[in-house]
Amino acid sequence: MAKKTTRKKTTRKTAKKTSKKSAKGVKKKTTKKAAKKTAKKTGARTHAGGSRTRKKISKKKTRSGAKRVTPGKMVYYFGKTRTEGGATMRDLLGGKGANLADMTSIGLPVPPGMTITTETCGKYSDAGGRMPKGLMNEVAKNMGVLERELKKKFGDNKNPLLVSVRSGAKISMPGMMDTILNLGLTDASVEALAEMTGDRRFAYDAYRRLINMFGDVVMGVDHHKFESAFDEIKNKYKAQTDNDVPEEGLVELCERYKEVYRSSVGESFPQNPHKQLELAIEAVFKSWNADKAISYRRIEGITGLKGTAVNVQAMVFGNMGDDCGTGVAFTRNPSTGENKFYGEFLVNAQGEDVVAGIRTPRPVSELKKWNKKIHEQLMKIKTKLEKHYKDVQDIEFTIERGKLYMLQTRNGKRTGQAAVKIACDMVKEKLITEKQALLRIPANDLTQLLLPSFDATKKGLSTVLAKGLPASPGAAVGKPAFTADEAVERSRHESVILVRKETSPEDVDGMHHAAGILTSTGGMTSHAAVVARGWGKCCVAGAGEIRIDEARGVFTVGGKEFGRDDVISIDGSTGEVIEGSVPRVEPELSGDFAKIMRWADKYRTLGVRTNADTPADAQRARDFGAEGIGLTRTEHMFFEGPRITAMREMILAENVEDREAALAKLLPYQREDFIGIFEAMKGLPVTIRLLDPPLHEFLPHDQKTQGELATSMGVAEEKIRSRVAMLHELNPMLGHRGCRLAVTYPEILRMQVRAITEAAIDCLGRGVKAMPEIMVPLVGTRQELALLRAEGEKVIAEVKKEKDWKKKLDIKIGTMIEIPRAALTANEVAEVADFFSFGTNDLTQLTYGYSRDDVNTFLPDYIAQDILPVDPFQSLDQSGVGQLVEMGLQRGRETNKGLKVGICGEHGGDPASVGFCHRVGLDYVSCSPFRVPIARLAAAQAALSD
Ligand code: PEP
Ligand code: MG
Repeated sequence: MAKKTTRKKTTRKTAKKTSKKSAKGVKKKTTKKAAKKTAKKTGARTHAGGSRTRKKISKKKTRSGAKRVTPGKMVYYFGKTRTEGGATMRDLLGGKGANLADMTSIGLPVPPGMTITTETCGKYSDAGGRMPKGLMNEVAKNMGVLERELKKKFGDNKNPLLVSVRSGAKISMPGMMDTILNLGLTDASVEALAEMTGDRRFAYDAYRRLINMFGDVVMGVDHHKFESAFDEIKNKYKAQTDNDVPEEGLVELCERYKEVYRSSVGESFPQNPHKQLELAIEAVFKSWNADKAISYRRIEGITGLKGTAVNVQAMVFGNMGDDCGTGVAFTRNPSTGENKFYGEFLVNAQGEDVVAGIRTPRPVSELKKWNKKIHEQLMKIKTKLEKHYKDVQDIEFTIERGKLYMLQTRNGKRTGQAAVKIACDMVKEKLITEKQALLRIPANDLTQLLLPSFDATKKGLSTVLAKGLPASPGAAVGKPAFTADEAVERSRHESVILVRKETSPEDVDGMHHAAGILTSTGGMTSHAAVVARGWGKCCVAGAGEIRIDEARGVFTVGGKEFGRDDVISIDGSTGEVIEGSVPRVEPELSGDFAKIMRWADKYRTLGVRTNADTPADAQRARDFGAEGIGLTRTEHMFFEGPRITAMREMILAENVEDREAALAKLLPYQREDFIGIFEAMKGLPVTIRLLDPPLHEFLPHDQKTQGELATSMGVAEEKIRSRVAMLHELNPMLGHRGCRLAVTYPEILRMQVRAITEAAIDCLGRGVKAMPEIMVPLVGTRQELALLRAEGEKVIAEVKKEKDWKKKLDIKIGTMIEIPRAALTANEVAEVADFFSFGTNDLTQLTYGYSRDDVNTFLPDYIAQDILPVDPFQSLDQSGVGQLVEMGLQRGRETNKGLKVGICGEHGGDPASVGFCHRVGLDYVSCSPFRVPIARLAAAQAALSD
């Protein structure tokens, strides 16, 4: 395969390989702790808000209205007594903690508690895992306030206060870190809880959950040991489900659990509630550096955070009977963006049951039937929250004996489709402005709107095997993989769909590598659904008709069996699971998406062009709003059919005449290519780069193909072999390529410039406004460009004369800035250039000294060890390579005021790099067709952030 193609591929593959390898690297370094599905709900027994709270808050507000950060303070209280935190303190209190305080302040019913700061977690990690001095004193003081507010005592044997301990980083990491519920239960307080609630079964159920969760999450006890103890009790009491176990069975189970705990940990389950609390807080600190949390941050590109906050909050219970329940909901549909309260709830359950996908929950639309008052209250809260946060909220709530408690609110993760619709709707509803709408949509998420969908007519002819929930849109085709590891492994060479009963945080790497995710249980807010939506990955959840046999590597549906070699298609927009491979169709830019693009164009000042080598790509990019072509790589045009033969003849030629004869065969092909592109881009500039790769990339390297070529060309095999050997270079990327080819073989440049000029004259003659720009690659000195420019101008003049073309023909000649020397001497180079285009792929390679083809041998380790924050071939190294870009631009314009400057490396489609290009004052970015809308939005966001 030609080197050029390989080069592009390796760059694209980097991300995939990086995630895999760095995950491994990380595993080596961190202790593998027993993982546990994260429980989600906590609660309390008090009202929040009230005039007293508000009076106290106002005293502590800064002039801007934001709450004040007190240096050295590790714990912030929220409740009726006082609320010390607020929405602006996400850095310090994490998203959950800041919003719990904020919800308390606006009078929502939030169980009171406290938040231990993210800085404290950072201190814990920095000290090699030692609890910061004074922390537990501060916690104890705040527990005192909580006890007084609720008129209960932590772990008391008469009137016990129970708490939950939950993690909460600045950026939400669903299910990635630890949670412990029901803390404060002991042999004594469990009896008090039984007495207080009049429900002994419930009290012991809460106790067994604590011992299990504490043992597993805090002390690393193998959770299978708890499960087998539970199975024995279930057998003894002939119980089908957990709920069938009677009160005495649960009392017995708690004893068994304590034995499991003692034999695994080597000491008894702690009967001191403060000891429980301290260990639980430490476990949450530790979970910040658990493998799965590190993997998640890497995949999501979350960097620069100190740690997680820890929220200690009074418990409320959704599992005390049929007037209790728990739910998770979005104020609007996170998948489609529709303005409809959306989510799920379970009666008589704890929150973890909704999230873990163990019981299939009921849609919140049924809440009204179950409890009209609660439904009405939630609807009011929906409106209040959206008005307050001016964004879609993802909430968690619990109903304890008919009373509603809010346990969390955060900006809801949404698909790209939903982000666009919600932004447009909220502008219509006057909740936000156009500018806010543009800033609200993560530019990269537009990728999801640019994904192909299934061809409706072809889909109609296919067999639908099952229908699950449309958890995350997209159209994925692949073969089933039944474990996360298998998905990672097989995705290297084939497209796989991860098929699981449900997913858990341990599966994130497999989910990331799979083309799509299919689960047989769980709802729209199950782990699989939430994570897939966050990534814009196609997911069908809760396809209950599917029976998965992981051990055999098959699933059955409708009497048919599907194994690892069977292809299935899943439609994340409809929830359909389809037999075989359904063809896909390309997306269109219309409706709300088109509106966002119009708004983006209104505010951006940076131009957006595309990198395209064919008329079809050029047309697609134009449909996506490209304002020209910033790079046509001409070498890609020499591979098809008879072209490669002529190309090889040209390379094998031993003298100028033979070379020119071969080039004459290539000329008509090139001319036709350019005509096609000019027609697609009529009226817009088209930058055509002259031949760039080393010539050996076009020759076969194995003996068999060399023999075949010799026969087809009627030359001796030896001639081919010796030419290949002659062209061999030790460092081809630093060798005879780019403008150096044109210096030694000017006839190649002459053929290409002739093809461009003839194509332009042909088009202009037919009224098609062609605007070619000739770009010389890999220039390092002014002299190179001066020489080649003169040669090119000579050809243009020749063609004009031959064609007797008297009208205007404006062909600009410029260069790529890919070599650091060109950036350093840009003032000289600009004297002979009409434009510059930064080739940041090569510029990155040459600035770092990292081979772009071989970087994957070490880059994953560099990222895992934080030597580099991201792959510099994907996101521009602004402080290093960026300096050369800025310098090149300034120096270039010193000597050539009208110099047009763009960028055409892969970075042209990366939002962070686009922001940089805007800030330094480039004229345009150029990126692949599918990234054009992303670049348009990113450019607008950069302009709006000025
Ligand atoms: C570059 O180097 O940035 C560039 C666009 O050229 P190529 O990737 O073809 O080397
Ligand atoms: Mg290059």
